[in-house]
Amino acid sequence: MVIHLKQVIFDRIYFEKDIINYELGNYLLNKYENLPKTEILSHNNIEELRKYENKDFGKLKRYLIIGTRKTHKYVENHKISDYLIPFTSSGCYAMCMYCYLVCNYNKCSYLRIFVNTKEILDRLILFANKQNKECVFEIGSNSDLLLENLVTDNLKENIEYFFDNTSHGKLTFPTKFHYIEPLINLPKKYIKKLLPRMSLNPQNIITKVEFGTSNLNDRINAINILAEHGYSTYILIAPVIITDSFEKDYTSLITTMKEKLSQKAKQNITFEIIFMTYSYIHRKINEEAFPKAINLYSTELMTSRGIGKYHYKNTVKEKAKEFLLKLIDNNFKNYTIKYIV
Ligand code: SF4
Repeated sequence: MVIHLKQVIFDRIYFEKDIINYELGNYLLNKYENLPKTEILSHNNIEELRKYENKDFGKLKRYLIIGTRKTHKYVENHKISDYLIPFTSSGCYAMCMYCYLVCNYNKCSYLRIFVNTKEILDRLILFANKQNKECVFEIGSNSDLLLENLVTDNLKENIEYFFDNTSHGKLTFPTKFHYIEPLINLPKKYIKKLLPRMSLNPQNIITKVEFGTSNLNDRINAINILAEHGYSTYILIAPVIITDSFEKDYTSLITTMKEKLSQKAKQNITFEIIFMTYSYIHRKINEEAFPKAINLYSTELMTSRGIGKYHYKNTVKEKAKEFLLKLIDNNFKNYTIKYIV
């Protein structure tokens, strides 16, 4: 099965000077040799980009920032992994309207690639070897690694390096993309130690909200190919978005999954279900950058949690949870719901 790669197109590169000391830094400078470039002191603080307005969100997404990762703080996690690991990139080229990476607008929205990959991996290997149990490390909480790989082409190499140098740890990451070549080309012995989790939503939501991501059929097809190659099926239904057509949309998602997932992929599915959270910052960016897009904020359905943060009211969420759990149970036999939040 051939999976056609998508081109990621950038308009400008911002780079820290010392990336020339790294193989990946030189690879990227070469790859994008025809693009205008600006040297920066730190990928964390690019003065001229901070002046951009909310309406320029899409423009910012077409800038690639290249630097080195300086902070390596691992945070404990108790959902699917044991630790969240700051990995080889931060931010994303896609533009999902709810993305939690839009934490600090002009700092986090665009894709930042970190070229000190060996240092990042060596720290993680050292940490893994010190643990008294085999931990699962979440390496995709800051970016989408399959999309990043279209730029760096080093995901397979990085995963292999980790497993070649420690037998003490598993890796996991979520994705909204079907560019799974690096995963299906991994040595067989590592496949059981890698848990890619495909994030799904109804096509109606993907079209209206998850701009620049793979469509539903491609994501389902990717799950089937992964299952063929021996991967376990992990599916995130995330984020669940409640609109006027919620029941219709999610019924369509689950029935499409039932119909299009292969028998092998359906043998044993682990689901994670996460309801959308939203914020004042998202509202402002979306209103100005995507004036014609649907409004994800609703005073009727949502309530505040902390300053400028919104989530669905408990009554709304409980009803939606019940609906989804029943829908899944009616359509799948062998599954586990890891959590629903
Ligand atoms: S694909 Fe993931 S990381 Fe990228 S914008 Fe969408 S939610 Fe954010």
